[in-house]
Amino acid sequence: MSSIAQQHTSTFSVRDLELKLKQVRLAHPEQSLPSPPSSDSGSSSPKQDSEESYFLRSLKECLAIYEESSRPRSQSLALLSDEEVIMLANNGSIATYALEKVFGMDQLERAVRIRRAILSRASATGTLETSSIPYENYDYSRVLGACCENVVGYIPIPLGVAGPLTVDGKQYPIPMATAEGTLVASTSRGCKALNAGGGVSTVLVGDGMTRGPAIDFPSAIQAGKAKAWIDSNEGHAALREAFESTSRFAKLKSLKTAIAGRTLYVRFATTTGDAMGMNMISKGTEKALEAMQKRFPEMLVLALSGNYCTDKKPAAINWIEGRGKSVVAEAVIPGHVVKTVLKTTVRDLCNLNVKKNLMGSAMAGSIGGFNAHAANILTAIFLATGQDPAQNVESSMCMTLMEPTGLNGEDLLVSVTMPCIEVGTVGGGTVLAPQQGVLDMLGVRGAHPQQPGQNAQTLARIIASAVLAGELSLLSALAAGHLIKAHMAHNRSQINTPAASVPVTPGAGFVSRV
Ligand code: ADP
Repeated sequence: MSSIAQQHTSTFSVRDLELKLKQVRLAHPEQSLPSPPSSDSGSSSPKQDSEESYFLRSLKECLAIYEESSRPRSQSLALLSDEEVIMLANNGSIATYALEKVFGMDQLERAVRIRRAILSRASATGTLETSSIPYENYDYSRVLGACCENVVGYIPIPLGVAGPLTVDGKQYPIPMATAEGTLVASTSRGCKALNAGGGVSTVLVGDGMTRGPAIDFPSAIQAGKAKAWIDSNEGHAALREAFESTSRFAKLKSLKTAIAGRTLYVRFATTTGDAMGMNMISKGTEKALEAMQKRFPEMLVLALSGNYCTDKKPAAINWIEGRGKSVVAEAVIPGHVVKTVLKTTVRDLCNLNVKKNLMGSAMAGSIGGFNAHAANILTAIFLATGQDPAQNVESSMCMTLMEPTGLNGEDLLVSVTMPCIEVGTVGGGTVLAPQQGVLDMLGVRGAHPQQPGQNAQTLARIIASAVLAGELSLLSALAAGHLIKAHMAHNRSQINTPAASVPVTPGAGFVSRV
């Protein structure tokens, strides 16, 4: 055969094949090519290969398969390739936010993969689909309807462990998720000094999550009457009964009222068992307001949260009244340990603590910021244990105190007072498997079997104690003048300035960035 004849034959045979395939696909969509990749098959290429796109069916064909009423949508989707589903989504037949709903529980990873492609191709950069943001091998069933929407993957954060640290006679590893070099090493150094003095003792002085709705009345007089009723035994009892009917864990502890013009604010405070408790208290508050509305039909609930709570915003009310767990953590460090481990003196530490953490923060007009870097340690533990990271705003409020103690004042008495540690071991991000692994490591995962609330309280005690370690280490480094040196050596990214790779062993001068 001549070469021209050969070309002709091959061209015709491909066209023939295409026509045949089309006929088969129309007649038997379930046998059609290509077979879609199964969601959890481990297929790593988000892009369809050229062969597959060659066999892409028309929009009309895909719609006919998708909308076939004799089988569930999830089964129809299993007959379509990723590219074909993307075509349906781009056509508006499937909402991008609802992919998980139509795919069903056993195709969640596929839903995420397809969303990545759709969003990526619609974006200016087009990078998401092939980016290094991971999405495979993640349990999206725990995320769905609980933790996140429009999911395109997950963001890994390095997890380090400081310590162990002895807290109330028990040793705990301190899990810290962070990208700040020196933070874990510095906290570990603080743990070493604390352990040498026998460890940390904690006291829980309060436990109550709060919600503060804003309620409008026609006049200040009427708002005043409602305030007086809530403050009376009768009003308090009526609201408590309604509030506590919503959960066996919610026990109303206090009601604090305040008026501005004709608007009334009521700060509900309640125990929430092992949950951080925002959902729980919102439910209780809603029910209590329904009961109040019967008594004051003229009232108008403007918002369940009227910022008198105060959630995720700086506020003096939290610092003064407390929110979540209120914890004091305290320790004594022998003078010789201050010298050998912390490389400073009791006198220098106490002096610096007064001038920096107390006077400096007072000069800056701080509310609850009488510390060196409580937020650093707290946020790293929050991320590791599935807490709501935005609550670091009030949870990090902390006053660090230091004074000489013992014979001739040669030892150091150190404490942190943290009135607003908002944590839970059930609900929220604590349902995710990796975060549960961290809670397991601490022995505080889930609901406490005998005493509801004790797991969350223990976690708060551990956090306050770790903050104490962080405070000690940073203050010591500042007192000894180690801060800049340590950061220059160990906290500068080497990635953009390639140099010989030298393994780093944290030394005494390690401190975190503040
Ligand atoms: P949050 O109120 O922190 O937002 P969720 O409402 O998501 O948390 O989770 C609390 C749920 O867990 C509630 O439905 C509650 O009934 C349940 N639960 C089970 N055991 C406990 C416990 N020991 N403490 C608190 N809640 C618990």
